[in-house]
Amino acid sequence: MPGLIDRYRDRLPFAPGDPVVSLQEGSTPLVPAPTLGDRVGAEVYLKIEGANPTGSFKDRGMTCAVSDALRGGAEAVLCASTGNTAASLAAYAARAGLRGAVIVPEGKIATGKLAQALMHGARVIALRGNFDVALRLVREVCERQPIALVNSVNPFRIEGQKTASFEIHEEIGSIDALCIPVGNAGNVTAYWKGFQEVGEAPRILGFQAAGAAPLVDGRPVEHPETVASAIRIGNPARWEEAMAAMTGSRGSVRAVSDEEILDAYRFLASREGVFCEPASAAGVAGLLKYGAPEGVARIVCVLTGHGLKDPQTALMQAGSVVPCEPELDAVEHAVLG
Ligand SMILES: *Cc1c(COP(=O)(O)O)cnc(C)c1O
Repeated sequence: MPGLIDRYRDRLPFAPGDPVVSLQEGSTPLVPAPTLGDRVGAEVYLKIEGANPTGSFKDRGMTCAVSDALRGGAEAVLCASTGNTAASLAAYAARAGLRGAVIVPEGKIATGKLAQALMHGARVIALRGNFDVALRLVREVCERQPIALVNSVNPFRIEGQKTASFEIHEEIGSIDALCIPVGNAGNVTAYWKGFQEVGEAPRILGFQAAGAAPLVDGRPVEHPETVASAIRIGNPARWEEAMAAMTGSRGSVRAVSDEEILDAYRFLASREGVFCEPASAAGVAGLLKYGAPEGVARIVCVLTGHGLKDPQTALMQAGSVVPCEPELDAVEHAVLG
C-alpha cells in the first residue's frame, strides 16, 4: 500500500508535485475481536494503529504535518508530547532532513517512545512540567521562531488522521459506534471529520482516564494522573471540537479508572492476541464497563498505539518468567507447570 497522502490525495490538501514525506503509514489492520464481541453482545473490530511505522496513529498526522512544513520552507519541527508524537516527529523529521525537537514531561514518557525519539536524532527536552505546560510553551516558541508546530493544533495533523475513518468505511461500510481514547482530543476530532466526509455518523464514544478526565468533569484538570501516560492531559487543545463530535453523533464522553484500563489491556493481550499500550485500551475498557449502547450492533475500537512502546507497564502487569536448570527433567517440569 502507498502512504496515506498518495492513497487519499484527492481528499487531502496536497497538490500533485508537492513534497511528500512518508514512511508508508496508514492502511492498518481492522481485526475482528470475537471474544470481546461475545462479552458485549455486538460485532466488534479493533483498528490496530500500532501497526503504523513508528507504532502509533500519530504517523497519519505526521506525514501531513511534516510534508506541509517542508513545503512551507520550515527549518525545524517542534512538538510537546506525551511520547508518541515525539517518536513520530523524530522519524518523519529524520526522513525529511529537517531538524526535530520534542518537549516531553520529565520522567513521564514510556521507555520505547523515548528510545525512538533519541534514535531518530531529535533533540529531546525533558520539561519540569506536565504536557499542558509544554504545549503552551511550544506554541509560544513557534510564534517567535521559523519552526513548524506539529502538535494536533496543526490542521494538517487532523487531515492525516481523518483517513482512518476512510479506511474503516472502505473495509466494512457503516458502523454504529466508535470507541476511542481521548487525550488532547485531536484524534476524536479527526475521526469525526473523516466519517462526516464519507457521509457516516457513528456514535462517537470517547473515554478518558478518571485521573485525567477534563471533558467528563467539564473543567481542566490541573494535575492529571493516570497509568495511561499517552492520555495524561488536563486541558485538551481540541476541547470544543471533541465535544461537538461526541454530542453531534449522539455519543458520549465517559471516564474509566486505571484499574479498568489495565484489565482491558491484559484482556486484549491474553484473549484477543493484541498487545496495545495502556492508553489504547481505554476505549475497550469503556466498552466493557458501560456496554454497547441500545441499538448498537457494530463497533470499532481504536487501539491507538503498540504495546511494545511501554515495556515497563507490561512487565508489571504480566506473569513472571519460570527459572530452570538445563536438564531434561527440570525443563519438562517447567514446561508442564
Ligand atoms: C496521542 C495518543 C492518544 C490520544 O490522542 P489525542 O489526539 O491526544 O486525543 C491516545 N493513545 C495514544 C497511544 C496516543 O499516542
